[in-house]
Amino acid sequence: MRERLGSGPRIVRALFAAILALGVPIAIALPTDLNGKVYASGAVVLIAAAAAILAAALVRRRKEPAEDPSGTGRWSLELLRRLEWRRFEELCAAYYEVAEGADKPPSVVQCKPSSVYTVGIKPVRELRAAMAAAGVPQGVLLACGTFTSEAKEFSRGESIRLIDGGELLRKIGALAPEQGQALLKLATAGDFSTPTCPACGIKMTARTSSTEGRKFWGCLNYPRCKRTFFGASNAPA
Ligand SMILES: [Zn+2]
Repeated sequence: MRERLGSGPRIVRALFAAILALGVPIAIALPTDLNGKVYASGAVVLIAAAAAILAAALVRRRKEPAEDPSGTGRWSLELLRRLEWRRFEELCAAYYEVAEGADKPPSVVQCKPSSVYTVGIKPVRELRAAMAAAGVPQGVLLACGTFTSEAKEFSRGESIRLIDGGELLRKIGALAPEQGQALLKLATAGDFSTPTCPACGIKMTARTSSTEGRKFWGCLNYPRCKRTFFGASNAPA
């Protein structure tokens, strides 16, 4: 890291020295009286300093995004949405493990995958049915996107908490830094964006439909397994 940043300050120092080396002799040679020489030299030093500060700012701005080109170095909504559905579920489970431990009140926790940006009422109804079947009064529905107002309205009448992507990030951010880092490591280990086949539990593969040329995820066990994912936010590149 230090080596990569090393070239920036070197360029800035070289620019500062070059302006001084060129400017000061001219500033001394051109004015005829001593006061003029002093003022002109001072002006050259100020110009060199201003140029160096500007260059340092430009170098820093160019470096910053390059330090985390994969976007996996810190938590963001973008990253959350790149997680395939199974990894998102694992993250949610791990979060609850860390945040609430063994004494959490019993509740049914379900997650909506990254392919769904706006979660409607259907998964909330399904969660309520799962709560009734399990005889558990509380439910939590997590999504990396947001919920429709209909879903929010419905959940208000039930003991269901809706947690969207932004709130999940705030919750992770409220953990101890090393806990947040551990969750980040779990979320981004290996191939975290290629979806897992819900039927076979193996990573899917990018395919192109022969009729429309659309890209989609298909199962490696095709034709035995015909599961696909179409039009997801993390469609194959
Ligand atoms: Zn499959």
